[in-house]
Amino acid sequence: MGQITLENVTKSFGDVEVIPPLDLTIEDGEFAVFVGPSGCGKSTLLRLIAGLEDITSGTIKIDGKDATNIPPAKRGLAMVFQSYALYPHMSVRKNIAFPLRMAGVPEDEQKRRIDQAAAALNLTDYLDRRPGQLSGGQRQRVAIGRAIVREPAAFLFDEPLSNLDAALRVGMRLEISELHKRLATTMIYVTHDQVEAMTMADKIVVLRAGNIEQVGSPLELYHTPRNLFVAGFIGSPKMNFVEGEEARKHNAATIGIRPEHIEVTSEGPWTGRVGVAEHLGSDTFFHIHDTGLAETLTVRAPGEINLKHGDTIHLTPREDLIHRFDDKGLRI
Ligand code: ADP
Ligand code: MG
Repeated sequence: MGQITLENVTKSFGDVEVIPPLDLTIEDGEFAVFVGPSGCGKSTLLRLIAGLEDITSGTIKIDGKDATNIPPAKRGLAMVFQSYALYPHMSVRKNIAFPLRMAGVPEDEQKRRIDQAAAALNLTDYLDRRPGQLSGGQRQRVAIGRAIVREPAAFLFDEPLSNLDAALRVGMRLEISELHKRLATTMIYVTHDQVEAMTMADKIVVLRAGNIEQVGSPLELYHTPRNLFVAGFIGSPKMNFVEGEEARKHNAATIGIRPEHIEVTSEGPWTGRVGVAEHLGSDTFFHIHDTGLAETLTVRAPGEINLKHGDTIHLTPREDLIHRFDDKGLRI
């Protein structure tokens, strides 16, 4: 079991309120991602759930029971940090066993849980090695193993992949998602990277300055962002925003259109001049100038397309996929 509920939770450091009153429920077995720019309160929120910080007011419930005043070790949650802090002089087996030894779990039960965790994480052949003899990804798995053996009600991850290089990050992302499917345990995962959020989450919680901007599945956030912040934050490359006359034609203060929803066409309502092209092979992202709509429009085109810097082109937006926002930046 691992349902986590925050009711009217606030957090202040001194007289600075970093989390204004906040309500949130994470369901048992869910993979929830807290995402938002640096300093928006993601780690603070996770630490409040873990009990590593005291909340200023409100209630935290775990499986319906008030956990607000329960110390971290008794909440049944396991935290995995970015810096994995393994003991260098201990074997992988001993590192994973550490929390069980601390808790006085009998030897044979320790062994059962370690073998099971090692198998889940492909670490069986490495149990006698020391952390120094492992790759970065394997070390991160050992840190996760140390959390798994506690058989927690929920796993809490704070930017666990930030120290890894890009290729390894993609691999570990998949491993953690696989692990979640296998364990079916609640996971809360903090990241500033919206791609991680989109690819891993059942439920994304977008935070800005301690406020929840939107909660939803990856595709809900992609298709129906509630405001300009979420619209600009979710999706890569970013959504294009257009104000002025073109927006007014759509009865909006601002319209948004994603790069993948603008087509390069032989005729079309919009014209512009080709600027920098980013070739990914599968796709090309063009930065288009002189449209009279915005300083730059980003457009996704096929990988092989015959356009040169400086060419004048026509563009056709998918009218049905234009997002409309009012003068307060809220979705219409
Ligand atoms: P994130 O993890 O999203 O980058 P944090 O939760 O670490 O953000 O921080 C949120 C805000 O709270 C920041 O403005 C940060 O400076 C402030 N903050 C975090 N921890 C403390 C602390 N122990 N004392 C004072 N301010 C803090
Ligand atoms: Mg943080």
